[in-house]
Amino acid sequence: MNQDTKYWIVDKIVDDPSAYPQGYQFIREAAELLQKNELVAFPTETVYGLGGNALADETVEKIYEAKGRPSDNPLILHISNCKQLEPLVAEIPPLAKSLMEAFWPGPLTLVFPKKPGIAHRASAGLDTLAIRMPAHPVALALIEAAGLPVAAPSANLSGRPSPTTAQHVREDLNGRIAGILDGGATGIGVESTVVDITGNIPVILRPGGITAEQVAGIAGDVEMDPGLVNEAVAPKSPGMKYRHYAPKGEMWLIEGDTVDNMAETITRLADKARADGKKVGIMATEESAERYPAEHTVLACGKRTDLLTVAHHLYDVLRQFDERHVDLILAETFPEKGVGVAVMNRLGKAAGGKRYIC
Ligand code: AMP
Ligand code: MG
Repeated sequence: MNQDTKYWIVDKIVDDPSAYPQGYQFIREAAELLQKNELVAFPTETVYGLGGNALADETVEKIYEAKGRPSDNPLILHISNCKQLEPLVAEIPPLAKSLMEAFWPGPLTLVFPKKPGIAHRASAGLDTLAIRMPAHPVALALIEAAGLPVAAPSANLSGRPSPTTAQHVREDLNGRIAGILDGGATGIGVESTVVDITGNIPVILRPGGITAEQVAGIAGDVEMDPGLVNEAVAPKSPGMKYRHYAPKGEMWLIEGDTVDNMAETITRLADKARADGKKVGIMATEESAERYPAEHTVLACGKRTDLLTVAHHLYDVLRQFDERHVDLILAETFPEKGVGVAVMNRLGKAAGGKRYIC
């Protein structure tokens, strides 16, 4: 794979769509490539997506190939208006309707019963289909102009942290895809929440930008997929079984009752690893970064008092540790409440489940 990857800067659209007609010209060019079954990366409000025509199995095949993604891991279809749903799904249950009204466009993916014969490859042969409407002006304009449901996993090489800037996409996929729309840094920074609505109660298959509390606020009730919390149970979302979002260095999550506890333990472990000749990265927060000895690579990942900022910076900080070639990353951990559930889920995957309890 070595193709010429086009690069269009469209970040001004995000601030003022009407003042930037050239941006729409770029988006139309990108949409034409999608119609020709080429792959284009684009910004969404969660992370950058790697888009392709969801209805063409050979295009979806190219997505799996460009990412090096295991082919039993189904993709999310992105739409720009609700009319696009009808040809794709067997039914739209009332529960789905109320969640769509509350959270679309937005970081909520719904798993529907699939219309037979549709999007065989994108659904990895399952009889369900994951669909969402992203809340990003570039993503919506691109999908609308292409007039297609766009299959779009995160635009990273499989196993690498998801991309939250176009530069991250370039690092992983330049030469492997037809184009990249650069809309600036994404907002939320962790992927969408995946919710199965094929039963009576919504089940969260992957925690994300919309919290369990928000889903329960609309649906009255919510369950977590047992596979998310119990390692002995296979997760219902095929993607959740993979180590994902992983930096190159070995990573450990340090759990403690207080920040004091975590900081003391991290400092002790870091100093010991350094004495053994390792370069150590410490994932701290704005509040705690100064507590750590300066000879380690200390990066602040948002503010502990605002976990949305931690989500926003998470993948970028993981990539920065890679750039600095650290051998070992020791990370502070966060309460599993609200968006903290998604943050801890991604940290757990990045660390391959390695935890140290103070
Ligand atoms: P990504 O495209 O990397 O954001 O990952 C999409 C996530 O949605 C993965 O965890 C998939 O396993 C999950 N997913 C996609 N389609 C389905 C489906 N039909 N049923 C359950 N999970 C799904
Ligand atoms: Mg991904």
